Amino acid sequence: MNKNIVIIGAGITGLATAHWLKKDGYNVTIIESNYEVGGSMVTEQENGYLIDFGPNSGLETSPLIKILVEDLNLSDQFIYGNKAGNKRYILRDDNLHVLPTSLKDFLSTKLFSVKAKLRLGLEPFIGRSKDGYGQSISEFVTRRLGSEFLDYAINPFVAGVYAGDPDKLSVKSAFPKLYRLEELYGGLIKGTIKGARKRKKSGEESKQSAAMFSFKDGMVTLPKAIHAEFGDNILLNSRVTSVDKKNDKYQITYEHNGSQSTLVADLIISTTPSYITANIFNNFDSGLCSHLNKIYYPPVMVLYLGYDKKDIGQPLDGFGYLIPSKEKKKYLGALWSSVIFDNRAPEDKASFTLFFC
Ligand SMILES: Cc1cc2nc3c(=O)[nH]c(=O)nc-3n(C[C@H](O)[C@H](O)[C@H](O)COP(=O)(O)OP(=O)(O)OC[C@H]3O[C@@H](n4cnc5c(N)ncnc54)[C@H](O)[C@@H]3O)c2cc1C
Repeated sequence: MNKNIVIIGAGITGLATAHWLKKDGYNVTIIESNYEVGGSMVTEQENGYLIDFGPNSGLETSPLIKILVEDLNLSDQFIYGNKAGNKRYILRDDNLHVLPTSLKDFLSTKLFSVKAKLRLGLEPFIGRSKDGYGQSISEFVTRRLGSEFLDYAINPFVAGVYAGDPDKLSVKSAFPKLYRLEELYGGLIKGTIKGARKRKKSGEESKQSAAMFSFKDGMVTLPKAIHAEFGDNILLNSRVTSVDKKNDKYQITYEHNGSQSTLVADLIISTTPSYITANIFNNFDSGLCSHLNKIYYPPVMVLYLGYDKKDIGQPLDGFGYLIPSKEKKKYLGALWSSVIFDNRAPEDKASFTLFFC
């Protein structure tokens, strides 16, 4: 073994990959263009508020997450989301409706019309589509579940996860598990029931039932702990500009404080955004790089707000709400940050994270 591996990018993908590779005995070096690790994971503390500007939580979909946390001695920092945060709201006609999670709630909710509820009952009788990557989320969901379900359940969910448009995203790429339910079991309802039995055996959790987690000091705790594990093997403030192949080895060129340096590796893993990967690897496969360059990254702005609890005119008892594009609001939704995890705001305040696209 003892191969030298270089990972480009010290966001959570690069860092977690580095951790597992090191555990398997590889020599790993990480090159990061920023002054600190974490990539999109950024946490700041100000005036008693704890602000996660990127991800506010993770989902414990795999037992590997707990192993990673234990490996890094972070068990006393690891926290689960509060029960209240399990409730999610969708805005329709300026009213917040709880997103139903049981058949009983689905039947009684005013989020969907009676017609939409009856349409959902047809799902098990709808056949498979022959389209693969070509099929958008909108096409897939409208065919299987009807247009109202697309507008008031899937559309806001796609905005919440991808800040994306379901007409433009491929269902096979964006929701591979959903797509596979149709492919493997012939339908979503059938597949959900059978998939749950399978996961029970493997110990995996579906995203719907997985527990939400964070850390007492915010999400940045995780990248910081992996940074401590790797120390000087993470080269910060070092921007990779190109990669070349020489005699079965890879030569990585990077800029640090205005001067160029190189590293030689047996293997390279790039975790940079696709448009940056396209520039770095242009010498290898210009066709692939031209595809990578076309991947659209929606710009997202995050606004963090704090209010006195006494000034809030309604109970805060959920994760927050998402806004379907049909509602024509200027933002995608809001997280009720201080409800989801403890110690995100001073005792008498409530904090909110709003996403604009
Ligand atoms: C506002 C927001 C909220 C989110 N909320 C959630 C959430 O609640 N839950 C969740 O699961 N996910 C959430 N996500 C998504 C999640 O943050 C990302 O999927 C994840 O952080 C991506 O990590 P990454 O390591 O793949 O990429 P990045 O975090 O983008 O890391 C890539 C790294 O590569 C470095 N880099 C770039 N170019 C170079 C170069 N030339 N040389 C060297 N290094 C380079 C960058 O500086 C960066 O550190 C959210 C994302 C955003 C933006």
